[in-house]
Amino acid sequence: PAAPVDPFRQGWLKGVYDEKPVKEVHTRFPPEPNGYLHIGHAKAITVNFGFARSHGGVCNLRFDDTNPSKEEEVYFTAIKDMVQWLGFEPHKITYSSDEFDKLYELAEELIKRKKAYICHCSSDEVKKGRGKLANGEHGPRKACAHWGRPVDENMEEFLKMRDGGYKPGEAVLRMKQHLATKAEEYEEDETDSAEVKRGKEKLKALANNPAMWDAAAYRVTKNRHHHRTGDKWRIYPTYEFTHCICDALENISHSLCTVEFETLRPAYNWLLDALDMKFEGSDEKGPMQREYGRLNVEGTILSKRRIAMLVEGCTVGEASTASKCTADGLADEVDELALAEDGEEELETPAEAAKAALNGTGRKIPPAVMSWDDPRLFTLVALRRRGVPPGALKKFVLDLGVTKANGNTATHTLDAHIRTYLERTVPRLMLVLDPIKVTLTNLPDDYLEEREVPFDPKDKKKGTHKVPFTKTLYIDRDDFREEDDPDFFRLAPGKSVGLLNVEFPIRCTSFSKDPDTGNVNAIEAEYGKDVPAGKARIHWVASSAAHNSPVKAEARIFNPLFKNPAPNSLDWKNGGYHDDLNPSSLVTYPNVMIECGFEHVRQNAPWPKEEGEANGVVDNSSVRFQGLRTAFFALDKDSKEGKVVLNRIVSLKEDTGK
Ligand code: ATP
Ligand code: MG
Ligand code: MG
Repeated sequence: PAAPVDPFRQGWLKGVYDEKPVKEVHTRFPPEPNGYLHIGHAKAITVNFGFARSHGGVCNLRFDDTNPSKEEEVYFTAIKDMVQWLGFEPHKITYSSDEFDKLYELAEELIKRKKAYICHCSSDEVKKGRGKLANGEHGPRKACAHWGRPVDENMEEFLKMRDGGYKPGEAVLRMKQHLATKAEEYEEDETDSAEVKRGKEKLKALANNPAMWDAAAYRVTKNRHHHRTGDKWRIYPTYEFTHCICDALENISHSLCTVEFETLRPAYNWLLDALDMKFEGSDEKGPMQREYGRLNVEGTILSKRRIAMLVEGCTVGEASTASKCTADGLADEVDELALAEDGEEELETPAEAAKAALNGTGRKIPPAVMSWDDPRLFTLVALRRRGVPPGALKKFVLDLGVTKANGNTATHTLDAHIRTYLERTVPRLMLVLDPIKVTLTNLPDDYLEEREVPFDPKDKKKGTHKVPFTKTLYIDRDDFREEDDPDFFRLAPGKSVGLLNVEFPIRCTSFSKDPDTGNVNAIEAEYGKDVPAGKARIHWVASSAAHNSPVKAEARIFNPLFKNPAPNSLDWKNGGYHDDLNPSSLVTYPNVMIECGFEHVRQNAPWPKEEGEANGVVDNSSVRFQGLRTAFFALDKDSKEGKVVLNRIVSLKEDTGK
């Protein structure tokens, strides 16, 4: 038989490897620890760890923690957990902040090499120097007066920055990239040789790339305290300065990131070149940055700031923007190119933003979800809590393919993938969401049959378990109608229906209603070989104290959070999103009954073992099963001794409304 196809050696990833076919493939996954990871990050994790593993290499988990205002312990832990849950083990866990001393030395080195200068321009002056026009276009550029400072002066000023001589915004270390490169330097001349022409074309491309207009390397930050280095530093390095250097220091061979960083690639290479940090070994020396498309799931919210509004609630009608310093201005402009799909600025942490919003005086909007791991969200903690198996997420990412194209997928496409995955893997049980009691009047009170029931009729290897069948059963309200209809094949007065895993059918002889609610609350039926056959089989759960049956539970059914299928297009600034919330995004069934096989499933979870879970990353969400004819379920973390809470992972079919 043909060897299984390795998705990490196909298509775009194959091209990346072939460009740099080194023996020791070394990648990294570099999240900024400023929030919870979302479904898009599952792609980044899968690509970086999977690519390295496929080539016998290793992948680091690097916390890109250079921004002192943006770090919280919970994010570090949650990110590490998610990598492990997805079945990957970091070769090393590194922190960009561990390199602050080295980075500082390299910044001094850059100054000595006349490739950086201290600039005192305001944010507006910087924009003007970059030729930014009111309409967002770029006109002629001009380096500022600080550009030509001598090395000694720059060194002195940098020390002054470091030692607290400047407030935020008063001084920035800028890289001397191509802001000052004049058109004359690359204008073509008829007499140019082919080689000169090529050189000029290259220079022109660099000079016209906004990422090369003397980006910031170091800035004085408003917040001084750093999660790991305390109050040691007043100045912090930017992403543009830090990322490529950390890649080089960690011996990263393939630095894989998302396409919005493509315009930053020349800046990445420029800095490594400027510091002689390129290694021999391939055409492109040193770490090689390549960019793959972002994974975006439509129909939900991935932006940290917006999720924070949903989790924490907010106050709208009053602007709450952090004041910007020069460095933010510089970083911003590059960020405009590098930002996520919704193009918003992320100057504050989501928590800060939410706090600022809460302290406003405008219209108060309550939270829309329970927490960051609310199963209606698409953070990885939420997907995990909902019961989505890690393998389903990885398969989803790889089935979509890793290419340069940004991928837009709908939430129902993701659900369809999860459904297909679960269909083949998890055990099956009978579960009644909204029970009605059925008494089989022709059976003796102590009637008890033990039915041998398979955990998966399509997979004998999963084995069987014993389910009691007694005089008292419970069936789902949906499977009964007070008035019969020729198109209805389940239980109705005078009508028969089959029971799953039971030999003979039952026929309804009478029913009664709760006088208060008007709901059917009891059905009487007869059972046996003389009862005429039904046209369908329904699921049921029997009452047997000896079997601890039924197991009582609460089930939470999740539906889309918003009525609008494109919630990103709602009015977020003024709180308009709140008016579009789907009132039935969470439907709770408080009286669920599960057959006693549940205990076995619970004790044997995860069943089957998922890659990450096999390494011991197990919690309630690893208890997964298919409720026959109902939905896929997982145990929620709110379950306690004596209280079972289930989450619906996905429905069995699209749009069943259940
Ligand atoms: P966001 O702002 O959307 O939370 P980010 O871009 O700030 O995400 P980081 O946490 O800083 O993300 O990045 C970690 C890595 O994950 C980066 O290499 C980034 O390119 C990648 N990444 C982030 N979002 C996606 C996505 N939607 N699809 C694929 N990769 C992503
Ligand atoms: Mg980020
Ligand atoms: Mg972002």
